[in-house]
Amino acid sequence: MNFKIPMSALGAVMLAAAAAAAPAHAEWVNRVTDGIMGTRITVELWSEDKPKAEAAIDAVLDEMRHIDESMSTYKPTSEVSQVNAKAADGPMHIGKELFDLLVKAKEYSVITDGAFDITYASVGYMYNFPKHIRPDDAQIAKALPAVDYRHVILDHQNQTVQFSQKGVRIDLGGIAKGYSVDCGIDVLKARGFTRAYVSAGGDSRIIGDRFGKPWMVGIRDPRKGEGEVIASIPLVDAAISTSGDYERFFDEGGVRYHHIIDPHTGHSASKVRSATIIGPYATRTDGLSKTAFVLGPEKAMEIYNRIEDIDAIIVKLDGTVVFSKGMQRGKAGAPPPK
Ligand code: ADP
Ligand code: MG
Repeated sequence: MNFKIPMSALGAVMLAAAAAAAPAHAEWVNRVTDGIMGTRITVELWSEDKPKAEAAIDAVLDEMRHIDESMSTYKPTSEVSQVNAKAADGPMHIGKELFDLLVKAKEYSVITDGAFDITYASVGYMYNFPKHIRPDDAQIAKALPAVDYRHVILDHQNQTVQFSQKGVRIDLGGIAKGYSVDCGIDVLKARGFTRAYVSAGGDSRIIGDRFGKPWMVGIRDPRKGEGEVIASIPLVDAAISTSGDYERFFDEGGVRYHHIIDPHTGHSASKVRSATIIGPYATRTDGLSKTAFVLGPEKAMEIYNRIEDIDAIIVKLDGTVVFSKGMQRGKAGAPPPK
């Protein structure tokens, strides 16, 4: 792990230093915005100059709008929609930003044994959760052969993407919010901010601390209201993503249909209630938080424990909570979450 979970023993010392460190007239500035990427964006930062802080938040939101414009499958003009329309016909040149993200997406497919797979959308596009629409078994069987990340052929030299067969569709919904959070943090860092929090839905990243205190990020109880948390994690310089089966779903005949799809079956992946990943970058924590739903808690935890720079918290179907090795007392020097 290269992110820091501060040790409580240091807390008092750090708190004393905090009062001295905070300059006069400086303040926390925050803004909450709904509607970009269909989710809630929160930006909070420490600033000595309020207009500069507001301008920086505007720049973060502009960056997120730009990502939404280019990567949303809801927008027919987006670059990703163009790829879905044309990439089965032959190699298609795409921008560097999208190309690099497709490279990352493939990397996550490999390290999660195919649980993370942006071609899930070859079946996934037939679901509409708000409208309670889902494909039937025949539709799934017909579309399923198109689900496989290996169908996405990336040519680094020419910066092109091609689908190896018709019917393949991609959707970056499982990685784009985390990516946009990382881009937002980059915008703030470039403007000299050293203490900030950016979140898009369930994906957040933090730079710096709160003057000697960590940021506390709550993990929601999957079966209770938004304010109810199962744990609060103290974080400094880290990203955290939670995926839950309560985000976009409908229940029918005792089955919960929700927005994470098992690439092997084309059905909702329901082997856990929620999974939280902590790591250095939100792109990475977002990309990895879906794995537990597809592979189940044991297999997923095995994979999470293998990946050096992340930790994980899984809420199993029976409501019990399991932690990765790095979060267990005595294993990595980190205290258990409060
Ligand atoms: P949020 O969209 O709130 O950040 P998640 O991080 O849990 O929620 O991501 C869920 C999204 O991931 C889905 O809405 C869908 O766009 C995408 N997705 C679903 N199944 C998969 C999968 N097996 N691999 C990659 N992405 C997926
Ligand atoms: Mg996410």
